[in-house]
Amino acid sequence: MKYSEFYIVGDTKYNDMVINCLESKGYIYKGTISKLEQLVILDNKVSILILEAPIFITKYSRQLKKQGIETIYILDQFDIENGIINNIREFSLMKKPLIGYIEINLVNHCNLKCKGCTHFSNICDKYEISVDQFKNDIKKLSNLVNVDLIRLMGGEPLLHSELSKILPIARKYFPNSKIALVSNGLLIPKMDEQLIESIKNNNVFFNISLYQPTYKMANKIVEFLNDKNIKFFFGNGCKQKDETLLIREFHTCLTTEKVNDPEKANDLCYGRYFPFVKDGFISRCSYPLLIQYLNEKCNSNFKTTENDFKKIEDFQNGDELIEYLEHFCDFCAYCTDKKLRRFKWQTSNKNNLSDYIV
Ligand code: SF4
Ligand code: SF4
Repeated sequence: MKYSEFYIVGDTKYNDMVINCLESKGYIYKGTISKLEQLVILDNKVSILILEAPIFITKYSRQLKKQGIETIYILDQFDIENGIINNIREFSLMKKPLIGYIEINLVNHCNLKCKGCTHFSNICDKYEISVDQFKNDIKKLSNLVNVDLIRLMGGEPLLHSELSKILPIARKYFPNSKIALVSNGLLIPKMDEQLIESIKNNNVFFNISLYQPTYKMANKIVEFLNDKNIKFFFGNGCKQKDETLLIREFHTCLTTEKVNDPEKANDLCYGRYFPFVKDGFISRCSYPLLIQYLNEKCNSNFKTTENDFKKIEDFQNGDELIEYLEHFCDFCAYCTDKKLRRFKWQTSNKNNLSDYIV
């Protein structure tokens, strides 16, 4: 880090360890900041180290840029091993704004077929993004913003027939980002050498969702990934199967009528945190770009507007993109402003509209 005095942004279980470690290297700890309003005390004469903060980091980095801060540093659990910091990532806020998190759709279909899948992957036909389209999208995105965490997903991303070619492209355009494959894990032990090498060479890790079938074979998955020296975690950060991370419930927020208060719906939903990229377009969450599949399969009549998703190439700069993603879209009025419906996780490949609505 450029300046010897440093502030930590974020309150995590690693704070004390990180402070000790950096102090032993001669850095001087000045304090911890956990609220947006406290950022005003920071200036360009200290190093700003952000710990594990993908969701709020977009807002924080915008505020820091307004204050004239040129560079921020990010440290994640993967970069800490046995009390040693292996890597701190550096992001220049002056070149491009930083987004905390982006999801990129690689395939529509899935081998698990969870009932009510919010990406409709349990009923979608087979589809995978072409390598050229992926390259176009990621290149255009990289011209606009830096991203802390890119999650490549589907459906099940391991079903993409050219995944080993996709990963180096992602890494080339986002050399400093965390890149995760979001997987149900079932195909991990079947990965071929070419894919394994691509995952390792491009410093990609697995974010594995622990569904019942995944849980049953979790030991095998852990053994395989450890043997191949591939980074992974289950759920939100555990390296072993853990019953508390088992996904027992799904939820939906969709209603068939566009009658809800979009602002209130946004306060309830999880989607607002997850900007979604698919085939040249970007939206605030996955629904507007995927709803066509529900319409096709279940004869529903959800309608999107030109405000619901935009071509990546239509943004002049990253700030414009971030502002677009910060506001709720027309489609949000399809989401309940009252109560999400939660239901027991199970599999189903039936075209039942009722599985997807509150
Ligand atoms: S594992 Fe389930 S929730 Fe995830 S994409 Fe497949 S069907 Fe959807
Ligand atoms: S459409 Fe809007 S309200 Fe609905 S999940 Fe997406 S961001 Fe949330």
